Amino acid sequence: MVDALPPLRDVVARYGLDARKSLGQNFLFDLNLTARIARAAGPFDDTVIVEIGPGPGGLTRALLEQGARVIAVERDPRCLPALEEISAHYPGRLTIVEGDALEIDIAALVQTHAPVIPDARETSDRESRASSDNNAVALDPRSDLRPAGNDNRVSARICANLPYNVATALLTKWIEAEPWPSVFDRYVLMFQKEVALRIVATPKERADYGRLAVLCGWRAKARILFDVSPAAFTPPPKVTSSVIELTPNPRPLHCDPRALSRVTQAAFGQRRKMLRQSLKSLGVDAAALLAAAGIEGTKRAEEVDVAGFVALAREFSQIGR
Ligand code: SAM
Repeated sequence: MVDALPPLRDVVARYGLDARKSLGQNFLFDLNLTARIARAAGPFDDTVIVEIGPGPGGLTRALLEQGARVIAVERDPRCLPALEEISAHYPGRLTIVEGDALEIDIAALVQTHAPVIPDARETSDRESRASSDNNAVALDPRSDLRPAGNDNRVSARICANLPYNVATALLTKWIEAEPWPSVFDRYVLMFQKEVALRIVATPKERADYGRLAVLCGWRAKARILFDVSPAAFTPPPKVTSSVIELTPNPRPLHCDPRALSRVTQAAFGQRRKMLRQSLKSLGVDAAALLAAAGIEGTKRAEEVDVAGFVALAREFSQIGR
């Protein structure tokens, strides 16, 4: 479809959408770049995209242009008229939700707006039709992405150029969500590069390896897709950005996210100290905790891998009761 919507810069000028730092507003007007981010989030069959912070709608347009159905959550009411214009251009494909993504249960939001997606019953109808029809084309393997045991849930994905002031808080909230796996089969997100490096770090990248890497490494596989220069944004931020992809691990090692959060906070809060010292701040016998988890007390936080922290969290859940 030829995009007959007015140029984004005109829309921004018409609605007076001057970028506000307090809302982490750095807009993208480069259509090649927004198309590239949208492609990274595809393919879009049987999936609803949740976009956090659509702003004037640059990335939203690219997602819709490539065939996505989008639920867009925007905190700034000034952006809503521009988004309504896009919604009118793509009837039935864009749902606009005004609100704070930190407060909203976006998995529940997906359920509320599920009627636009073929539901699991239709999928299983399709499967039975396919299996009873020798000429049936192979089932779309992406239907396997639907979380096991959640038959009524649709497949959904988050794609966003995140507001940097709340980006880490949002990611933490999504990765700590219960139950796991959540409704989201993938997350394609723009962060400041420095944060992206902290998300994908392993103990080898000592300086970047910390709480965020442990949390993300526990429940997902994260990788950096590409970097984006500050010049791509209006206004340009001071630093380079990176688009990352997180693919949830459907069966992460069992542990309580709250316990993992407590343990990593204690360990990385004093990252230069040995664990037998730093873990005392948990208010338990640190030596006994480390022994139960099979980790040497002389190690420092940055020397312990994700499985080690999960073991510590599990033991902490037992001892710390
Ligand atoms: N997606 C647009 C783009 O790429 O040009 C705008 C991205 S801008 C970096 C971040 C957007 O998130 C802004 O539109 C801002 O108003 C919105 N935002 C900030 N905090 C938010 C929150 N807590 N919940 C939802 N949206 C938020």
